[in-house]
Amino acid sequence: MKPEHKKYEYLIVGAGLFGATAAYRLRQQGRRALVVDRRTHTGGNIRCENEDGINVHRYGAHIFHTSNRRVWEFVNSLVEFRSFINSPIANFHGRLYNLPFNMNTFHALWGVTTPGQARAEIERQRLEAGIGEPSNLEEQAIALVGTDIYRTLVEGYTEKQWGRPCRELPPEIIRRLPVRFTFDNNYFNDTYQGIPAGGYNRLTDALLEGTEVRLGCDFIEHRAELEELSEKTLYTGEIDRFYDYRFGHLEYRSLRFESRRLEEENFQGVAVMNFTDRETPYTRIIEHKHFEGAKTPHTVITYEYPQAWTPGMEPYYPINDARNTAIYEKYRDAASHDGRTVFGGRLAEYRYYDMHQVIERALDIEL
Ligand SMILES: Cc1cc2nc3c(=O)[nH]c(=O)nc-3n(C[C@H](O)[C@H](O)[C@H](O)COP(=O)(O)OP(=O)(O)OC[C@H]3O[C@@H](n4cnc5c(N)ncnc54)[C@H](O)[C@@H]3O)c2cc1C
Repeated sequence: MKPEHKKYEYLIVGAGLFGATAAYRLRQQGRRALVVDRRTHTGGNIRCENEDGINVHRYGAHIFHTSNRRVWEFVNSLVEFRSFINSPIANFHGRLYNLPFNMNTFHALWGVTTPGQARAEIERQRLEAGIGEPSNLEEQAIALVGTDIYRTLVEGYTEKQWGRPCRELPPEIIRRLPVRFTFDNNYFNDTYQGIPAGGYNRLTDALLEGTEVRLGCDFIEHRAELEELSEKTLYTGEIDRFYDYRFGHLEYRSLRFESRRLEEENFQGVAVMNFTDRETPYTRIIEHKHFEGAKTPHTVITYEYPQAWTPGMEPYYPINDARNTAIYEKYRDAASHDGRTVFGGRLAEYRYYDMHQVIERALDIEL
């Protein structure tokens, strides 16, 4: 069929934030697009499920934060945002510390009460460790923040996240460990922060309104018929799968979520609690109602367990080491010669992106 006779100008593979933002743009311009997703819901990883008045973040806690005014105004033009400041708590063997590392944390660790005392203690520990050029993540972290912060708040959490001892992880994983010498528990430094009132599905619905969406439809399995319907493709799925793994599999870290409904009003008093000791098998407990201040007699909590990833599992975090980067570059090169398909989003670009970055890229990508 000649391009001008095709039903859709664009086939968008993936109804996540990237695909949905691109669909919105095309619709605003009066261009025809079909969105397909292999999952049975839209929204990709920002999907929420409402559990009797509580929006449960099905694929992990999502907090919207950005310093990009254009992105903030864009999302606010679609849905109302509710102010939410992420102030997670670290739990180390039952002792609680504020995050990010700030004067409240330092007071709990050492009893110091002034920024000068806190700086002096960190400096003393850094010098005592005597690390020159760090050769692994442990040395890197101690060189940045000293031994106590590392042992209490970084070591166990990082080892659970990566499934390997910090001494066997490359120093580059942690380039910075920001410390704040103020009593400020706001985790993010961004200008704008919040949660869509009523949950993320409202944002997805607003982006996809008026666009045809087919769910439970895997592009790879229906490629020929879907491409026949459309002139061009925007692909937001795994790039190695698009090319039938011809240069090898890209690797990820995965997560397992275990959610529980509890017949009590308030389980932990905060949305996000990080478990920073090695012995607790999960890294975080999320108590979803605190994101939106839901007034319910019950609560829903989710335990987050980091997991090794094997093909077929949900890919969460790309492992951007030398091996995977070399493989990805081959795919990226093949993609740059593809006249029909544009690639975007966390899976197609094999990069961890926050939501605001995904939106910014989807607003800017040439379509
Ligand atoms: C645990 C966790 C917590 C996070 N927390 C935050 C946070 O607090 N703040 C923040 O800003 N960001 C956060 N993020 C990042 C955020 O989830 C992403 O930026 C965003 O969801 C990526 O959108 P996307 O469209 O690129 O990818 P996805 O949401 O993964 O969407 C891609 C879609 O494509 C579909 N698809 C793939 N292949 C095919 C195929 N062959 N056929 C059909 N459909 C296909 C998938 O089913 C999926 O729905 C977090 C990420 C994780 C993993």
